[in-house]
Amino acid sequence: ATRPGSAPREVATHCPYCALQCGMTLREETGRVTVLPRQFPTNRGGLCQKGWTAAELLDHPQRLTTPLLRDPTTGELRPASWAAALDRIVTGIRAVQHGHGPDAVAVFGGGGLTNEKAYALGKFARVALRTRHIDYNGRFCMSSAAAAGLRAFGVDRGLPFPLADLGRADTLLLVGANPAETMPPLVRWLTEQRERGGRLIVVDPRVTATARLADLHLQPLPGTDLAVANALLHIALTEGWVDRAYVDTRTTGFPAVRRSVAGWWPARAEALSGVPVADLEATARALGTAERAIILTARGAEQHAKGVDTVTGFVNLALALGLPGRPGSGYGCLTGQGNGQGGREHGQKADQLPGYRRIDDPAAREHVAGVWGVPPDELPGPGVPAYQLLDSLGTPAGPRALLVFGSNPVVSAPRAAQVESRLRDLDLLVVADFLLSETAALADVVLPTAQWAEEDGTMTNLEGRVLRRRALREPPPGVRTDLAVLAELAARLAAPGDDGGNEATDRFPTDPRTVFAELRRASAGGPADYAGVSWERIDAADGVWWPCPDEDGPDTPRFFADRFATPDGRARFHPVEHRPAAEEVCPEYPLHFTTGRVLAQYQSGTQTRRVAALRRAAPSAFVELHPDLADRLGVADGEPVRVVSRRGELRAPARLSPGIRPDTVFAPFHWGGAGRANSVTNDAVDPVSGMPEFKICAVRVERVVEP
Ligand code: SF4
Repeated sequence: ATRPGSAPREVATHCPYCALQCGMTLREETGRVTVLPRQFPTNRGGLCQKGWTAAELLDHPQRLTTPLLRDPTTGELRPASWAAALDRIVTGIRAVQHGHGPDAVAVFGGGGLTNEKAYALGKFARVALRTRHIDYNGRFCMSSAAAAGLRAFGVDRGLPFPLADLGRADTLLLVGANPAETMPPLVRWLTEQRERGGRLIVVDPRVTATARLADLHLQPLPGTDLAVANALLHIALTEGWVDRAYVDTRTTGFPAVRRSVAGWWPARAEALSGVPVADLEATARALGTAERAIILTARGAEQHAKGVDTVTGFVNLALALGLPGRPGSGYGCLTGQGNGQGGREHGQKADQLPGYRRIDDPAAREHVAGVWGVPPDELPGPGVPAYQLLDSLGTPAGPRALLVFGSNPVVSAPRAAQVESRLRDLDLLVVADFLLSETAALADVVLPTAQWAEEDGTMTNLEGRVLRRRALREPPPGVRTDLAVLAELAARLAAPGDDGGNEATDRFPTDPRTVFAELRRASAGGPADYAGVSWERIDAADGVWWPCPDEDGPDTPRFFADRFATPDGRARFHPVEHRPAAEEVCPEYPLHFTTGRVLAQYQSGTQTRRVAALRRAAPSAFVELHPDLADRLGVADGEPVRVVSRRGELRAPARLSPGIRPDTVFAPFHWGGAGRANSVTNDAVDPVSGMPEFKICAVRVERVVEP
């Protein structure tokens, strides 16, 4: 900390939270850190309440500054030395792997980790632990859009164009996206778009803050977005708005899609989704006749057991209208977590190696193994997606030890009570975090790690723009960086009794700049090629867009102008059919339940629930009910209710809102304990992406009669 009277210190960096990665300046004066907004292309000087208050956690009284070990006698977590904590971890890993093999240890990462950490974590799992079991919480965030983008375009970058293009679109269709609450500075682009005379259309089962900005709001029944997409394409075909020349020259597979949407008469889609035919027609017209049109999806479309197909439905529509690659037009996904994009590019996904390479691709294995200095045949194969991994923990066939970095699955995973019980069944649970999350509270060992303002690194925002996160200050005494933790563990695992100076330590450098240099080599030639992205180059501009294979060559703000990233350069249509949700309503569970976020909280709330201003703004979980439903249940605004599904229950005050459908209830997922929305959610997953069905399950709501 700066001492009283010493000069203030400032650093230009980015917000620790969402994928917009707003520019901010951190200023430290007389030991106090304040946040100042900074001009950056994504936020243009704006910040939301979360960003404004981000510095409060740096010196928070609940900050962890010493390792914690669970006392076998009392069962409580007790402060311990780093040596004791690391010894406990290494002894535990050795015991588990000795008895059950390398795959008996698993690693769970996070979409908030820097690129360097995501890369090092993937390498640590495969090289130091030799386990195939690594995945991360981004699987719960954008994996359906990633899979749909890959199969249609041959590459997955959330936005294949700069965010600024949104402001110039004549028609902008947002499907299951609520940026007015999740990414408020993005609203400036929407405002600009509308001031230019553009049309904003929002598809969402709730009247969200974003839906209130729209010219047209389609309010479908949860789980019916794909029917809406197919009906929109049906109308575009009927009205002659399909771009035949584009379809013929730039795509393959359209005839099968044309046949598949032939039966999606608008009236059929209305019967299923509740969206009036007139609104479907108006939407199709606005898209089909616009010079520049953009379609964006987010979690509302993606977090379903048919999430990949639902996104594909909107990708098909975009391709049929000739949007991707056309100036000012296209399809994109609004990534949620701060490094949700970079987090999925550098090898912390079960099926991928750095550079967004497939782990089952022999050439990719050979290249990455060469960079890592190991024989390709010693690299483990693909693991399993996040929920499948969590649900297998502690079972006879599953891992018996888990290392968690930057994630809180006890709150964020579906069917969370079962996940919690799986974690309790482990022989060893290790959590690296800077606050005692609900997951850390279950751990055998908790490692206190550095925060975003205490270490350098890079992040890749929702546009695929690689940014520099810069350290303002050193971590406090007792705290280590994640990179230092991985290096220590690798050294101890490789050389019993030797905690440094050996080959393993060299393989896991602690300096993020050195790690990034290695990441560049590992990614070279892959779809997400960072070979030409240097920290100096990022510093000299407002970031660098991947792919950027050559330090002296151009980066790639826009994709698909001439060709797609498929072998023949053409985009792929895929016919997709609506199917019901994995769990449908019935007399016992007659209501649809859906989850989401609120403005003042972020993800599992580990951080934002501890910030005073955010806690005041959003102090607790709630259950949003339509007044007509509340009437039927005899529930008044603010009264406690119980939401019950086949998997568990959530208790929270009712919040009455005419903006939700009477057949649907909503709860935000930021809280643990009795208000945990994921106690209720369904663990059915998409067969392609592994995305759980957070956005729909069947529940009943009961009034809680308090004694
Ligand atoms: Fe910007 Fe997101 Fe941070 Fe808010 S949370 S300031 S929108 S990066």
